[in-house]
Amino acid sequence: MNRPKRHNWLGALLLRATGSAIGLSRQHSLAVVNYHRVLARPDPLLDTEPDVAAFHWQMALLADCFNVMPLHDALRALDEGRLPPRTVCITFDDGYRSVHDLALPILRKFKLPATVFVTSGFIGSNAGNMWNDRIIHAVQSLPAGTLDLTDVGLGSYSLGSLEERKQTAQRLTEAGKYLPPLERDSLVKCLDRMSGMHHDALMLTPEMLVALERNGVEIGAHTISHPILTSLDDESARAEIVTGKRQLEALIGKPVRLFAYPNGKVGQDYDARHVEMVRQAGFFAAFTTAVGAITGDQDRFQLPRSRPWDRTPFRFGLRLLSWMALGNRQPR
Ligand SMILES: [Zn+2]
Repeated sequence: MNRPKRHNWLGALLLRATGSAIGLSRQHSLAVVNYHRVLARPDPLLDTEPDVAAFHWQMALLADCFNVMPLHDALRALDEGRLPPRTVCITFDDGYRSVHDLALPILRKFKLPATVFVTSGFIGSNAGNMWNDRIIHAVQSLPAGTLDLTDVGLGSYSLGSLEERKQTAQRLTEAGKYLPPLERDSLVKCLDRMSGMHHDALMLTPEMLVALERNGVEIGAHTISHPILTSLDDESARAEIVTGKRQLEALIGKPVRLFAYPNGKVGQDYDARHVEMVRQAGFFAAFTTAVGAITGDQDRFQLPRSRPWDRTPFRFGLRLLSWMALGNRQPR
């Protein structure tokens, strides 16, 4: 077993001092870290998501070297010029059950607030898993050989080595993102038929959602069904944004103030029409998946949000600080 990674006192001191020096030299900026799920154990097909051990050291580092604030409070503090140096917010997208089962105990241990952006249509016992997770399930469980998807117009794929499965999962997920909903549905149904229908339920139940909210996790909106908004007509896009918000508000009995664009790439996944719809729906702020930190001069409805991809605590912390130092002047 790997020794758990820990940041040492010298690393922590350096990160705090560097963060404070950045704070002295410019107006403070805010880094928002985004996760999807936390894995019970490492999974080679999901290697961009942390397992419990990695999530634990990342939270230990944030608790020790940064100021972690609730997202809404941090945005207000930024507006009012009173954001502390080295401020970070923690977010999760989509509404995975592992946020409740695996992340929440660690967040509570370190007394860290967080926000989860929930795709409202997947909350509930019969809602099933998201299409991308159904692709991963099929690629994980199908026997070695060739995966023939010519019937649904997607050619054939290799399921030999682990590396081939990883590439197949990535290619099918990328292809699936931009398929029209009906074609994507036939792809996923076809994979379900081949791989067996049994899936572990991955998404939050309504009870878990309420429990998260009662434990200091803010609930944000992320549409009903996680569409690429630019692929929808305006009426459907507006319904995804507005009804997604209302469904979550009905569950938690509170206003939902924050929104994250599904997939989150400007121009590709959402455009100016959707920014305006989100503004009109009464949200306080909205988030993309652009790399960088939030500064006071950005569009409140297109705020960047990203996660350092580094595998050691010091580098992870340093990358957050570099985003804070650069603000929205990110190298492309
Ligand atoms: Zn998402």
